[in-house]
Amino acid sequence: MREATAATAQVESTRRLMAEDESELAILGRRISEMNSTIVAAKQALAAVEHEQQEARPEIEAKRAALVSQMEDAKHDRDGKAGSVSRPMLGKYDRIRGKRTMALYALRGGSCGNCDTAVPLQRRNMMAGSGEIEVCEACGVLLYAEG
Ligand SMILES: [Zn+2]
Repeated sequence: MREATAATAQVESTRRLMAEDESELAILGRRISEMNSTIVAAKQALAAVEHEQQEARPEIEAKRAALVSQMEDAKHDRDGKAGSVSRPMLGKYDRIRGKRTMALYALRGGSCGNCDTAVPLQRRNMMAGSGEIEVCEACGVLLYAEG
């Protein structure tokens, strides 16, 4: 009788453990199916993005080609113009141009056209007389006097 009671208790405990495992399995199963639907949604979003990109690519490529051709024209134009500038001046220009979008400014009312620092009268007269290009002592851009 005692053995039968012990056996029954063991069966009960095993049943409880199995029930716990089953509910854990059910939870895991739900989680997996949630993850699977997340994957499906992500794949759909990816396909949509790829489709969108496919449509945009030829347009971007055409724009890029147009820009490349514009840049080549500008380079050609620049090389033509640079031919008449002395090498040291061209070097100065390129150095300044590497740091800012514009390197050359006209004097504006006796001051630097970029930073408004006054240029001494003597230098201004020199620039106006010889057409020489000077470096602004304050901001470092090239300055010329407008004829
Ligand atoms: Zn300046």
